[in-house]
Amino acid sequence: MALFEKKDKFIRINPNRQRREEKRLKPEVPDELFAKCPGCKHTIYQKDLGPAKVCPSCSYNFRISAQERLAITVDEGTFLPLFEGIEQKDPLKFPNYLEKLEQMKEKTGLDEAVLTGLAHIKGQKLALAIMDSQFIMGSMGTVVGEKLTALFEYARTKKLPVVVFTASGGARMQEGIMSLMQMAKISAAVKRHSEAGLFYLTVLTDPTTGGVTASFAMQGDIILAEPQTLIGFAGRRVIETTVREDLPDDFQKAEFLLEHGFVDAIVTRQDLPDRIAALLRFHGGKR
Ligand SMILES: [Zn+2]
Repeated sequence: MALFEKKDKFIRINPNRQRREEKRLKPEVPDELFAKCPGCKHTIYQKDLGPAKVCPSCSYNFRISAQERLAITVDEGTFLPLFEGIEQKDPLKFPNYLEKLEQMKEKTGLDEAVLTGLAHIKGQKLALAIMDSQFIMGSMGTVVGEKLTALFEYARTKKLPVVVFTASGGARMQEGIMSLMQMAKISAAVKRHSEAGLFYLTVLTDPTTGGVTASFAMQGDIILAEPQTLIGFAGRRVIETTVREDLPDDFQKAEFLLEHGFVDAIVTRQDLPDRIAALLRFHGGKR
């Protein structure tokens, strides 16, 4: 067996040296430089997505933060935040909940999963709320409920229309039933705003699910959605096992909901400011 006789001729490589060598050969590419498009599966240079974060090859709308949404939606310098700094409660004494909230505040630069305030869009004045799915999945805790309710109450006294961009995983499990109660609380404020003859517009963005869909997301006088947005209450698998039927591929997508009358129009992200401003004007908007 000549092969085994040549044993001493093999070169032993120092494992540390090998690791250093591998590191040297591996290109250092920062994670945030490229993005993989979930729509067309192409790898895209982040800069090519532009501030609206829309895929240049298939127009897929990437998820964006509340701050990014604000920057591409409202007239520059017109946003005035309202109802910030509401005290956080931990009604269930849920382990590490308050720490998690602190981490999220640091990560997103927001005080909760929704940004609320006054703004102008193409010259039209409005009360605005933008949810952020990066903040504990945009879940609806008591502070989210209080901020939205306060916004509707404020808009009613000032006779302003309300526009809400929804993005949420639904209820916040760390707040249990207190989270579910926000559905009724916000809905009551929406109703009072509506009874005052004021306009409410919702824009459903990816993902809009759970208790948010089951309450204020679907209560808009007009409901817009971004293309391919996931909109639903329960998850697809839960429904499939309950009804024991296969659901269509586009089930819970904005396009499916438009076809079935749950959504009034699908509007691309770049067209949203113009479309929102036009709707506000039609409904007696003010400058
Ligand atoms: Zn794409």
